[in-house]
Amino acid sequence: MATADNVIISVQNLCKYFKKDAIRALDGISVDIRQGDVIAAIGPSGSGKSTFLRSLNLLETPTSGSILFHGVDITQKKVNIDQLRQKMGMVFQHFNLFPHRTILQNMTLAPEKVLRVPHEAASEKALQLLRRVGLEDRADAYPIQLSGGQKQRVAIVRALMMEPEVMLFDEPTSALDPELTGEVLSVMRNLAEEGMTMLVVTHEMSFARTVSSQVVFMEHGVVVEHAPSREFFTNPRQERSRAFLRNLLDRFDE
Ligand code: ADP
Ligand code: MG
Repeated sequence: MATADNVIISVQNLCKYFKKDAIRALDGISVDIRQGDVIAAIGPSGSGKSTFLRSLNLLETPTSGSILFHGVDITQKKVNIDQLRQKMGMVFQHFNLFPHRTILQNMTLAPEKVLRVPHEAASEKALQLLRRVGLEDRADAYPIQLSGGQKQRVAIVRALMMEPEVMLFDEPTSALDPELTGEVLSVMRNLAEEGMTMLVVTHEMSFARTVSSQVVFMEHGVVVEHAPSREFFTNPRQERSRAFLRNLLDRFDE
């Protein structure tokens, strides 16, 4: 089946229920992600943002609906999950680096194991990526020796080692001290400028406003509003979106 307009991922009526359907974490999500899109997913805690991201690379098994990746429904059984995850890099709030491996080893492990990239080539590439985020001199350090901001920059370039088509971020700066969020956001901003397709769950409204091209505002497992970022922030269509933005401003004023 052909995919129109560079759609990479097409999510159609996706539902994920927990506790025998008592909790409707996702209650009919439909979103298309096109090549080069930078989508900020925002919304109150518990609205289903993480479940949405985790469903995309099958860390959660959807209850119903479909996720088409280049037109192929990945919720069907025969999908190769390792191959899929390689195409969708994921960065989590808590970095998820392997503590007993050096930064370089953290980066070369998956390419060597999964893609069978020779050690030399993988190391070379890792050093290049580390250089890009200003951490080349920390290649032999262990995660515990790095700041949170440094660890998150490593987590991002570790995901890039697999040359993903899409990068998924779940609140990548939420666990960081405020003075460290800037260095991580700037790496993400560069990625976006290079044309990476990104879906970013974030509370950083300045990032959503200035870097993302679109906003998906979620609540109670549904997409309340999906709009170009500029429109969302200047002229939200839904009353619920307006209330959410007002509430953020109020908090900012305190
Ligand atoms: P968000 O990331 O927007 O804060 P989540 O996707 O984490 O929201 O959660 C959406 C809803 O699903 C919440 O009510 C949450 O408690 C529930 N939920 C998420 N994961 C599980 C799980 N593994 N088991 C039961 N309920 C879950
Ligand atoms: Mg979450």
